[in-house]
Amino acid sequence: MAIITGEQFRESLKEVSPEIYIRGERVEDVASHPLLKQTVHHLAAGCDLLFDPELKDRLVVRSPISGEDIPRLGMHIQQEKEDLFIKAELTREISSRRICSACGSNMLSVTWAMIHDVDAAHGTDYLSRYRDFIIRIHKTGLPFAWCMMDPKGDRSLPPSRQPEPTDLRIVERKPGGVVVNGVKLHTTMGPCTRFVVAVPCRALGKKDKDFAVSFALPIETKGIKMIARPSPGPSRETSMESPLSSRFMGVEAMTIFDNVFVPEENLFMCGEWEQAGNLSMYFASLHRQSKCACSAGHCDMFAGAAALAADVNGVSGRASHIQEKITSMIMDGEAGYGCALGAAVNARRHPSGVWMPDPLIANSGLGAIRSKVGRHMEHLHDIAGGLIATMPTEADWNNPELRKYMDKALRGNPKYTTEERLRAMHLIQDLAASRAAGTIMAFTINAAGSPATNQVVVRRAYDLDKQIRYAKELASIKT
Ligand SMILES: Cc1cc2nc3c(=O)[nH]c(=O)nc-3n(C[C@H](O)[C@H](O)[C@H](O)COP(=O)(O)OP(=O)(O)OC[C@H]3O[C@@H](n4cnc5c(N)ncnc54)[C@H](O)[C@@H]3O)c2cc1C
Repeated sequence: MAIITGEQFRESLKEVSPEIYIRGERVEDVASHPLLKQTVHHLAAGCDLLFDPELKDRLVVRSPISGEDIPRLGMHIQQEKEDLFIKAELTREISSRRICSACGSNMLSVTWAMIHDVDAAHGTDYLSRYRDFIIRIHKTGLPFAWCMMDPKGDRSLPPSRQPEPTDLRIVERKPGGVVVNGVKLHTTMGPCTRFVVAVPCRALGKKDKDFAVSFALPIETKGIKMIARPSPGPSRETSMESPLSSRFMGVEAMTIFDNVFVPEENLFMCGEWEQAGNLSMYFASLHRQSKCACSAGHCDMFAGAAALAADVNGVSGRASHIQEKITSMIMDGEAGYGCALGAAVNARRHPSGVWMPDPLIANSGLGAIRSKVGRHMEHLHDIAGGLIATMPTEADWNNPELRKYMDKALRGNPKYTTEERLRAMHLIQDLAASRAAGTIMAFTINAAGSPATNQVVVRRAYDLDKQIRYAKELASIKT
């Protein structure tokens, strides 16, 4: 049952009625809500991909933990070095076709490692509970939401010193469990998932111990509410416009835990503040390795779309400046992917069995590639031309009276019909001149941590003192 089809996923959404709000109103039926349709489609298409004859051997893996066949990118605990390479290859491939490959396996793996550390330091046995949760999701095949990022309030203060804390925390310890209260932000795909997994988002001090909490709960648990932000694609039906975002990319949500009871068996960390920062450290290694591959996939998508735009405009192979731009997009993607692979080559095995990619290479690669995406959008505007922001709409094309003017005036390379040229232009618009473009930018710059966090990791991991010694040797400086 662990591998489910898109249809089975859609059906599963009807089994529960979580407390979701969108545009100020309660969602009655997640499966059929018009503002959730792209997310449902994105996740359902991800399920169907598991049956793709070309991909299934790599996308599906037998879990040594549960013995189930499971989605590698969504649910696998990465305990073989080879996992890092296969994951990078698949992440690039899928991201180049639909932006997001839903890489929940990274989140589950870094949590596995952190819980292992908690048990090792405190003699607790949280990992066996977490293992039971992993087996449960492996058996159902249903997606989960990742609740890591707290609101954080005034960034200069730790959570315990915020005047009115909103970060997720334990507010009561009861026999058989704890009560938690607070908020997690940025819960990607959250409203269309079936479980929430909460983890701490930063290093904590002794006074912050109530904020050191990790657990998993079904999304319909009393007190869990999500305020959803619709995905960037249009809610109306389209055939030409927004070809990517009308079908892919997902809803975001603010997740509220309003005095939620967490039973002991669902609790994986309960006040062990000393290990909270380990999760961010492991995330900075494992997830950012993936993110290098994911961004490489976006470079591939942008390069392909740019080359198509050049061809429909009739400038493919003619203009050297266009060739240079497309080539630079390809090179950026290859450099990012190289870092994903390099970080995997230098990976180290954490005592929990999870392989942690080299943080220096992963963060250097991500820092470099994420800064290029804005430039790629600039190239798309340049190569496609102004039409992406000025062309008449799909509704105009569908009006025969207007189409006859558009058909002649908007023709390009005779190899393509006008409609085909417009379809290519709509793709570029989606990628570079739309709400989806802004979301892709947000995804690139902030998802997986802000760019400054790449620098922090690199400064910590790089042996600059050694290089200073070598510089002194060369310059014959003795001090
Ligand atoms: C599309 C998208 C999807 C996401 N999905 C998820 C998800 O599914 N689950 C999840 O948990 N999170 C998710 N995130 C959250 C993401 O990890 C955060 O947005 C990211 O870590 C940045 O945190 P922030 O938004 O709070 O920004 P901030 O941390 O406020 O950063 C803003 C700026 O302030 C700087 N700054 C912050 N704190 C300090 C400080 N103490 N000292 C100096 N400078 C500081 C930062 O470097 C940055 O320049 C997602 C984000 C995006 C954009």
